Amino acid sequence: MGNPATMDQADEPLFEDEKFHDHCGIVGMALDQDVAPFVYFALQSLQHRGQESCGITTLDGLYELKTHKAMGLVDQVFDPATVKKLKGSTGIGHTRYSTSAGSTEENAQPQVVMSAQGGIALAHNGNIPNTDELVTELKAKGWAFSSGNDTEVVVRLLANKLTKHNGNHIGAIQETMSRLQGSYAFALLIGGELYAVRDPWGIKPLCVGQMTKGAKGHIVASESVALDVVGATFLRDIKPGEVVRVRKDKIETVAILPAAKPARCFFEYVYFARPDAWMDGRLNQEVRESIGRILAKESPVEADIVVPVPDSGRSHAQGYAQAAGLPYQEGLMKNRYVHRTFIMPTQEIRELNVRLKLNPMKHILAGKRVVLMDDSIVRGTTMKRIVQMVRDAGAKEVHVRVGCPPIVAPCYLGIDMNTRDQLVAAQKSVKEIETMIGADSLAYISHQGLYTALGFKEDELCTGCITGKYPVPVAGEHLRDGTAVPGTPPVPTCC
Ligand code: SF4
Repeated sequence: MGNPATMDQADEPLFEDEKFHDHCGIVGMALDQDVAPFVYFALQSLQHRGQESCGITTLDGLYELKTHKAMGLVDQVFDPATVKKLKGSTGIGHTRYSTSAGSTEENAQPQVVMSAQGGIALAHNGNIPNTDELVTELKAKGWAFSSGNDTEVVVRLLANKLTKHNGNHIGAIQETMSRLQGSYAFALLIGGELYAVRDPWGIKPLCVGQMTKGAKGHIVASESVALDVVGATFLRDIKPGEVVRVRKDKIETVAILPAAKPARCFFEYVYFARPDAWMDGRLNQEVRESIGRILAKESPVEADIVVPVPDSGRSHAQGYAQAAGLPYQEGLMKNRYVHRTFIMPTQEIRELNVRLKLNPMKHILAGKRVVLMDDSIVRGTTMKRIVQMVRDAGAKEVHVRVGCPPIVAPCYLGIDMNTRDQLVAAQKSVKEIETMIGADSLAYISHQGLYTALGFKEDELCTGCITGKYPVPVAGEHLRDGTAVPGTPPVPTCC
C-alpha cells in the first residue's frame, strides 16, 4: 500500500500535471501547391497531442528534404518566414510530448536520415517496446544512434531495409513493420513518396481525407480534426496493418499486413483525442456522453448539480447529467492560458498551482450536493485538491464520478503513464482512494460499462492500463490471454 505522503511529495513528477499525455500527433499531406502552410495549420489542431516540440519536413523537388523542428508549441516554433522556406508540395509534420528526460531537440520529429537510396523522414505516434533488440541488431551492422529513441531506431531500420530491397519502398516498409512489436502510426517520406502506415493492432489512430476546399490533394492525420481545419473531407480510418501511398491525385493501399487481433487504445476515446474527432465512425463527444450516461445508471447518487472538471470531464458530465436528470453546471472555470506549472516545494504553493488552473464558482457550488465528473484519476493528488476547492467554495457534498475504470498498470504503448507506484489505483482500493481525495463518494465506470459505451468488445481494445494485460509482449507483464511474458518490465521510452 502506498504512503500518501510519499505519493504527494517525493515521487511527484517535475511538473504539476496529473493527466496522461499521448506522445504525438502526426500529419502527412500531398497537394497541388506548397504544403507547409497547410501542415502548419493541421499541427495546430493536433497541439493537444504533443506540446513540447514540433516539426515539419517537406519534399522539395523529387528527393530533397527540408526540415524545421524545435522545442516549443507550433506557433512558437514556426513563423511565416520559416514556413515559407519549407518548399515542396508533399510534407509531414509532428507534435511531440515526452517525459522530461527525453524532452530535447534531438528527439523532436520528423526524424530524418540519409540512406544510399536518398533521405527518409518519419513522423511517429506510438511506442515500440522491442526497440532494445532492434538496436542491438543494427549496432552489430555498424549503425550509430544519436538520440536512441524508438523513432530513430525505426527510421534507421527502414534505411537498412531500403538498401536490402534495392530501393523498393514497399518491401522495406513491410519488412520493417514485421519487426516492430508495438504501437505505431507513421507519416513517412521515403524515396520521393508519402506513405501512411498503421500498426497491425490498430492501437494508434490514423485517418485519411481529401481536400475539398481550395488546394487539391490528400491528407493523413492522427485525428479527423486536422482534416476539418485544412478543408478536407474525412474519407476513412487507415486499417490496422495497412500501408497507404498518399499522392495529390489519389490514395492507394499498397500493402496490408495480416491483421493482428485488434487492440485500439480505449484511452483515445476517453481522453486523448478531441471530443470533435471522429474515430471508427463515432464522434468522441458522443462516446464520452454515453460513458457519463452509463455511469449515472451504474452509480447514481442524490445530488443537486453535475459539475465537470474542465475540459476533460465536460462531455462525460453532460451525459451523466442527462441520464440522472440533474442540471449540468460549469462550477469550475479553467484558465486557458496556463500550460504546465512546475511542482512547487511547499504544500501551500501547490494549492496555488491548482487554483491558477481552476477557479471555483462559489455562486454555483455553495450549499449544493455536487457530482464532480472527470475522465480519469491517475495519482489522485490533483483530484484531492479539486475536491477540497469545491468544498471550500461551500459545496455541502462532493461525489466524484470517473469515466474510466481504475488505472492499475503502466502504458508501454505510447502514453506517458510511468510506473505502478505512481498510479493510486495500483496501490489503494476505491474506498481508500475515496478517503484519500476527501470525497463523500467515489465511483468509476465499470469495465463492461466502458466497453458498452465504446461499442467494442474487450478483446477488440487495448486495455493494458486497466487490466495489466497487453496486446503485444511487454517484458515482465502479461498478454491479453493471460500468458506471462518473462523479463523485467522496461522503463517506457516513447517517441
Ligand atoms: S495501455 Fe492504456 S493508454 Fe496504453 S495503449 Fe493500452 S489502453 Fe492506451
